[in-house]
Amino acid sequence: MSIFRTYDLNCPACNTPVSFDLVMSISADRRPDLRAAILDGTFQRKVCPACATAFRPEPEFTYIDFGRGQYIFVYPVAKRTAWQEWAGKATAIFDSTLGRGSTKEAMVLGKRVDPRVVFGWPALIEKILSRQAGIDDRTLEVAKILVMQNSDESPVPGQMELRLIGDEHGDLIFAWVRALDRKVGDEMRVPRSLIAEIETQPTAWKGVRDDVSEGMVVDFQREMLTA
Ligand SMILES: [Zn+2]
Repeated sequence: MSIFRTYDLNCPACNTPVSFDLVMSISADRRPDLRAAILDGTFQRKVCPACATAFRPEPEFTYIDFGRGQYIFVYPVAKRTAWQEWAGKATAIFDSTLGRGSTKEAMVLGKRVDPRVVFGWPALIEKILSRQAGIDDRTLEVAKILVMQNSDESPVPGQMELRLIGDEHGDLIFAWVRALDRKVGDEMRVPRSLIAEIETQPTAWKGVRDDVSEGMVVDFQREMLTA
């Protein structure tokens, strides 16, 4: 089930209150349209009736897709500096509902998903795209470290995050993205074969891969990013 609640938010440009139906939980199995809207950036986006500025609130919900094995706790970017605390809360919720602390039936369901925690829209979209492309998100993080090392851009530390933003004609498309206003830097295209190269040399990357995939926040930038 997808659950919504109504909420008033002020327009960032003119401060007019705008009413939103904010989602608390998304079932992508039952609402593929919501999954598609997240990917194309239209989800929960509204135009201010007073000044016509388009905006959307930061995400805060649970994204569940049993068909694709995804169970993602999505938090706003403002909570990112306290990522360990939120990861702890998410782990406790998952354990009690679908993990070790739940019923046998629930645990069977829980084993079908990879629980994750993300902060902000670009990180959520990246997880959905990565799974859609059949890429293990832990391998993707290793790939991103390699992309970053070869990137000409050196964005302001803490604000721009390196994200997978697309998958086209055998290329993976990455960009530096600012989560709050979705400013996107130049596209960086990398052949999809980079993923296979990393996976055929597991020992070379084991340390990095283990490091980025410890716990539910699988993101090599988790220590670097601020709000
Ligand atoms: Zn406005």
